[in-house]
Amino acid sequence: MTEHAHTEEIVAAANTPAAKNAGKFKFVHIVTTINCPSRCKMCFNWQNNAQDEIEGERIKQALDELHKNDMFTEDAVVIFGGAEALLRKDIFDLVRFAEERNLCTVVGTSGYLYNDHIASQITSSGLRCLALSFDSLDPKKHNYLRGVDGIFENIRRIIHEHPRKTSLTCTISSYNVDEICDIAEWVESNDDLTQLGYQAIVMPFNLREPRKDWFANPALSHLWPKDSAAVDANLTKLIEFRKGSKKIYTSPRHLQFFREYFRDPQHINRNATCRVGDYSLTIMNKGDVVFCNSLPPLGNIRENSIMDILTSPQVRQRKQQMLDCKIVCEFYVNCFFED
Ligand code: SF4
Ligand code: SF4
Repeated sequence: MTEHAHTEEIVAAANTPAAKNAGKFKFVHIVTTINCPSRCKMCFNWQNNAQDEIEGERIKQALDELHKNDMFTEDAVVIFGGAEALLRKDIFDLVRFAEERNLCTVVGTSGYLYNDHIASQITSSGLRCLALSFDSLDPKKHNYLRGVDGIFENIRRIIHEHPRKTSLTCTISSYNVDEICDIAEWVESNDDLTQLGYQAIVMPFNLREPRKDWFANPALSHLWPKDSAAVDANLTKLIEFRKGSKKIYTSPRHLQFFREYFRDPQHINRNATCRVGDYSLTIMNKGDVVFCNSLPPLGNIRENSIMDILTSPQVRQRKQQMLDCKIVCEFYVNCFFED
């Protein structure tokens, strides 16, 4: 297990070629807000009404400290997400700040709030990538799943106005499992698009239900694909397509794992340990610093500097808890699948 000790030790370790990236983060997620104007069927973040969210200056201070202490890998990505990052008035100020430190920036958005003003800020801030959800080639279906009109049309506009700057994510559910290959073919043939990833439908965010039974809930079971033979056939076809694809970044093994997950989500053979804390760090919307949101925070950047937090004894303790974790969480299914 890589472990954060003192800053000097981390920097020294990073200077040896064998451990070039030890103790550094490849992904730093900033949850800029948990509020959202969309009304997605697979997420209840839109019910949030959080106030007093983290100040932009605190986010900048944390990024600056991480940068000055050489805590980013060479290919690190700073992801400004949310719920809906475009709700933040200072979002492009934050992007510019990170880009000035030569960090690769991504903004996660549904696209719902996109307008001319945001379009010009995307360009002037130096933002490298917009991460967009894309669940169907059918506008009505996508807008239905995202719960608001016009969102599909905005996504098409963003793709057109910011060619080769968007990354799409398709969440596989009962509504689009028969479309996953069509979406792949469309992305492959569209020169404006560079990346497509897939996620499996998981327990909706912000749902206060036991994780294990969420898809048996009558209000949510419509999202779960019930025809397992059709799921299998479509995923098998997608895996074949993936072998020749230059744009799908979800690995064939991860797609195979989805097949297993959709067959029986209750009995996943969890054989990978959770090492998220070795390469990914999240700053929550009120300043909590976490490796895993299900575990207590390591500290809060409103109270302590991020380097003090990362050199505290909690880091070692939390990483051990993560190594011992046996939960098949949403992140295990979709985000840190290990090949
Ligand atoms: S999935 Fe994204 S856009 Fe939809 S409600 Fe949740 S945070 Fe908002
Ligand atoms: S596997 Fe466990 S420790 Fe890792 S992110 Fe999921 S809940 Fe957290």
